[in-house]
Amino acid sequence: MRPEFIDLRSDTVTLPSPAMREAIARAELGDDVYGEDPTVNRLEALAAELVGKEAAVLVVSGTMGNLASLLAHGQRGQRVVCGDECHIYHYEAGGASALGGMIYHTLPTDAYGALPLDLVREALAASDDPHRAPAGVLCLENTHNRRGGTVLPLAYLEAAHATATAAGIALHLDGARIFNAAVALGVEARAITRHVDTVQLCLSKGLAAPVGSLVAGPRAFVERARRARKLLGGGMRQAGVIAAAGIVALTEMVGRLAEDHANARLLAEGLAHIPGLQVDLGRAQTNIVRFELVAEHLAPADFLAGLRARGVLIGGLGGRTLRAVTHYGISAGDVARAVVAAREAAA
Ligand SMILES: *Cc1c(COP(=O)(O)O)cnc(C)c1O
Repeated sequence: MRPEFIDLRSDTVTLPSPAMREAIARAELGDDVYGEDPTVNRLEALAAELVGKEAAVLVVSGTMGNLASLLAHGQRGQRVVCGDECHIYHYEAGGASALGGMIYHTLPTDAYGALPLDLVREALAASDDPHRAPAGVLCLENTHNRRGGTVLPLAYLEAAHATATAAGIALHLDGARIFNAAVALGVEARAITRHVDTVQLCLSKGLAAPVGSLVAGPRAFVERARRARKLLGGGMRQAGVIAAAGIVALTEMVGRLAEDHANARLLAEGLAHIPGLQVDLGRAQTNIVRFELVAEHLAPADFLAGLRARGVLIGGLGGRTLRAVTHYGISAGDVARAVVAAREAAA
């Protein structure tokens, strides 16, 4: 986070906690490509347990975690069935296509991040028609980033999983913010991930670790993802320096996400009262506030510049849609100051 600003661009700007820096300094290390880094091994076991899967593998980033997962699930010429608003499709450089020879089959995403299950069923249906590329994997995202941090209901996930299983296709969850979803629902993460086959989760977002994501699932899948990680250049050596912070992230930082959610709620309610801004409060469920700049006299770039001049940074989602994210290091006072800045910048 840029200390001179109230930086609401993303929860990726979080800096490691003092406990993380200490854990990094003390971490027991080895060569993880040989499987000999005890700290990485501890983190992978911990993550697998938290999401209720057989195994997990540490990767460099969420992008690498999703790509390694897609490479482990699918073959060249197969379809990645996913939402048209998902991170995998929008923000991951087309990796499954560029490096895996797969094609993205996007389905319409509802306001809360769900894909209509009748369309999912149709997209996953087996076909003898040689014209059709077979489905390789189904992807969902929870919480949903571009929809504003919305949480998928457990009943929806269960139904989606049943749909995928009936078609013989694996369901992969982009769970970059799975712990935000769990905290919002008041459940353990594994209550969510029991409804998916595999999951990618990020340590470097609201959990405030400097680097890293984990991919978890059945052991055979994780071994394929581990091979894909090596192929992608993600085999790291004394990666315990990363994993040490990750262990702190998973053991000490999950509980405090509720504070980020409360701050996001404050922010959403504050912004909703400002003429020229429109906030769908129903979507302010976790730590992301998605809102529209409807004041016609004001271009989004000018509004963002006005905020920046007042010491507040936020980001755009394209067009007149903007995004502010609360996180470790942002207080309720910062939120109050950001609302004042937004009122002035929108005037
Ligand atoms: C941030 C994010 C990712 C990718 O993580 P990186 O570590 O930035 O590569 C994947 N999915 C979602 C939903 C995200 O928000």
